[in-house]
Amino acid sequence: MEKRSELYRGKAKTVYQTDDPNRLVLEFRNDTSAFDGEKVEQLDDKGMVNNRFNHFIMTRLEEAGIPTQLDKLLSDNESLVKKLEMIPVECVVRNIAAGSLVRRLGVEEGKELNPPTFEFFLKNDALHDPMVNEYHIQAFGWASKEQIEQMKTLTFKVNSVLKSLFEQAGLLLVDYKLEFGVVDGQLVLGDEFTPDGCRLWDAKTREKLDKDRFRQGLGGVVEAYREVAQRLGVELS
Ligand code: ADP
Ligand code: UDP
Repeated sequence: MEKRSELYRGKAKTVYQTDDPNRLVLEFRNDTSAFDGEKVEQLDDKGMVNNRFNHFIMTRLEEAGIPTQLDKLLSDNESLVKKLEMIPVECVVRNIAAGSLVRRLGVEEGKELNPPTFEFFLKNDALHDPMVNEYHIQAFGWASKEQIEQMKTLTFKVNSVLKSLFEQAGLLLVDYKLEFGVVDGQLVLGDEFTPDGCRLWDAKTREKLDKDRFRQGLGGVVEAYREVAQRLGVELS
């Protein structure tokens, strides 16, 4: 496999073409951003931790029968993945109230949500990723009704797999964001699952061990990511 030209540089990852038209390289950078890119910092080792973390989680999801982009780990900061036609929406499941839900509805952070909730957001930084519903997604052609149903089913399946995985590590999976894409007509989990895109709290102390440490200026961001990785048994370099 040969890495070729840069295809896209996002806020935290760079995507490269390869000599195989069906494969891309995802490079996880140390850049950490919040508030639609308004706050940006370089955090040593974050790219390595997230790349290895993502590989570990996607492997567990594959084992549970969820189709993912996963091909293989290439280096500390790079993974080889299937090239997907990304659907421009984010799928968010919440087990506990936090973040934008708390701000939007004025509910108390930490309230357990029964049932867990599901939300779609449009991927659009200029519009601050507005919340959209299934009618918007269909009407504007971002995904079909069938793909919408599959995204919901798979996102909840991820919840049942990961909630118990994190629980065994003494962690609460508060909420998370997933992105899907399509290859050969199949809906596949893409992008990443890392502490940059989910909320994880220590089950006993409710200490925040995710990107909220960065958003809220709590410090110890990568240390927290490392702690989570170590509890799960993710191999770091
Ligand atoms: P953002 O675009 O939000 O700034 P990133 O820095 O994470 O985010 O950039 C990664 C980009 O690569 C995202 O736009 C994401 O949708 C896209 N992407 C992730 N996985 C794949 C994949 N397997 N195939 C094609 N594109 C992907
Ligand atoms: N999230 C993400 N990317 C986004 C928006 C949200 O990864 O562009 C994740 C976020 O880390 C959290 C979950 O999705 O785990 C729900 O985020 P929320 O809607 O509460 O928004 P935020 O607090 O980021 O404003």
